[in-house]
Amino acid sequence: MNSINFKREIISAIQEVVGSCSKEKPIALHEPSFLNTNASKYLKDCIDSGWVSSAGSYVNKFENEICKYTKAKYCVALVNGTVSIRLALHLIGVKPGDEVLLPAISFVATANAVSHLGAVPHFVDIDSQNIGLSPAALDIRLREIAKWDGNKLVNRISGRRISAILAVHIFGFPASIIEIKKISEYWKLPLVEDCAEALGSWTEGVHCGLTGDIGTLSFNGNKILTTGGGGAIITKNSSIAKRARHLSTTAKISHPWEYIHDEIAWNDRMPNINAALGLAQMEKFPEIIGRKRKLFDIYQKAFKSLNGVRIMKEHQKTKSNYWLITLLLNEELIFNRHINKDEILNLAHDCGLLLRPLWKPLNLLKMYKYSPAGVLEKSNQIEKRLINLPSSPKLLNNE
Ligand SMILES: *Cc1c(COP(=O)(O)O)cnc(C)c1O
Repeated sequence: MNSINFKREIISAIQEVVGSCSKEKPIALHEPSFLNTNASKYLKDCIDSGWVSSAGSYVNKFENEICKYTKAKYCVALVNGTVSIRLALHLIGVKPGDEVLLPAISFVATANAVSHLGAVPHFVDIDSQNIGLSPAALDIRLREIAKWDGNKLVNRISGRRISAILAVHIFGFPASIIEIKKISEYWKLPLVEDCAEALGSWTEGVHCGLTGDIGTLSFNGNKILTTGGGGAIITKNSSIAKRARHLSTTAKISHPWEYIHDEIAWNDRMPNINAALGLAQMEKFPEIIGRKRKLFDIYQKAFKSLNGVRIMKEHQKTKSNYWLITLLLNEELIFNRHINKDEILNLAHDCGLLLRPLWKPLNLLKMYKYSPAGVLEKSNQIEKRLINLPSSPKLLNNE
């Protein structure tokens, strides 16, 4: 098959799943849906009662629903995912001037949250099986650069303290978190999991975010569950949860009228009106996951007979929420037959299919190009091979 026909085959396989589309009637990558939820009712209740801002019963209800679903002991709802990562890193002791180890492939917010604390992101390679932080690369990098200075772990090249590992679960695929946890324990490093894309994803029955010390969620507009904008931390540690509540509400000491604050803190709490939207979707969440998994099956069938590409599948012992359906081009296709993902994206956008590539590796962005990094071979390769397909649960209606 020549290259132009091959690209057309990809487009028609997608159209087989999502139905007709055009430049005038495009199909987005991921859209929120409040179909069959109580969203309007709960919003009206917020407005009628005047409880639209922080504090209010929907925040507690939303947090409880997340705990019930994920089996987290504690959940603290916050204003967005970036702030949730920043607060989590602060809570486990990341200080200005420290280094935090994280994968080179993630949304930019993961690295920005490290920088917001005055710490330095240190990039490590990924595992191409799940696009998450590679335990092997992490182990190699730590052996290469880390040394103990008393009970402080330092980077012997930069002299900075290494204070945390920040793993990320990409597109809903759980990273190899059990192996990463072993490495974090060996080096006595706290572990934070960025689960912005992984609500509804599990490893051996444990929800993403609950293997490490803290998991962080995002409820931004494009995520599997949205509160308009929002985030949360989940944890099994009661003192972390307690401090998260305190530091996300200006560290105010509870008192009927006095303004006494005992630390410099933030105003990070989720408003009630956002939590109302979150609760409405959370009540239907198993159904949303069901639709995502079904959409994955349909895509897989549509691409079965096409050689050279495959739909990425969850790994054994893990469950993906299939937030974004992910198409992987074979290396042979790219390196020998010179199929370029940008040409596929161009053709797709011309037909109104708003496909997206993977993010640029973070170490290639101008603000992070001088950040410390290990060998990033897999991160640089996967960028050329990956395309996200339209993944809204409502696409199932085209069956
Ligand atoms: C969306 C996202 C974030 C940031 O969440 P916001 O709510 O947009 O601040 C962080 N990390 C990853 C991996 C994300 O996908």
